[in-house]
Amino acid sequence: MQGCAARQTLESPALETRLEPIAARLIAPLRMEKVISIQIFSSGELAAYSRSDGHILISSTLVQKLTNEELTAVIAHELGHLINNGNVHFVAALAGSCASDDEESAADQTALQILRATQQRPTALITMLGKIADDSALSPQTRQRIAQRITRLKSIPDAN
Ligand SMILES: [Zn+2]
Repeated sequence: MQGCAARQTLESPALETRLEPIAARLIAPLRMEKVISIQIFSSGELAAYSRSDGHILISSTLVQKLTNEELTAVIAHELGHLINNGNVHFVAALAGSCASDDEESAADQTALQILRATQQRPTALITMLGKIADDSALSPQTRQRIAQRITRLKSIPDAN
C-alpha cells in the first residue's frame, strides 16, 4: 500500500537505518514471493503488527528497547503470522505451524523455524517476550498470555 498512514507517522530515520540490515538478513534468505516492508511508527507502546499486504509495523519504543537479535525475533514472529494466515508463501520450503491452539504461539513456532532457517539465535524470541511482559502498561491478562508463550517456547528444546 502506498502512502499509508504508517508512513506518515515514521519516527526518526536513525531507527529505520538500524532496522534495515536486520530485516534484510532475515528476509533475503527466505526468498519470499511478496515484498515485505518494515516500518516504524511513533508510539510509546511496545507493539508490532503485520498486515495482510506484507507490511510489518513496529513501534519506535519497541525498536529502542530491544537488541538487534530481539528485533529479528519480532520480525520473525510477524512473518510467522503472515505465513500462518496464508498471506505470505515461501519459495524455500518452510512449513507454517497451525498446530497450536492460539495464533500467537503458532506465530512464535513459525518464527522459530524462520530463525533456524536463517541461522539466527532462537533465544532472542524468549528474551524479547520477556521484555514485553515486563511492560507495566500491559493488562495482567496480556502479561499472563505472554508468560504462557514464554513457557511454551522454553519447553521446545532448541528454542533455548
Ligand atoms: Zn503476534
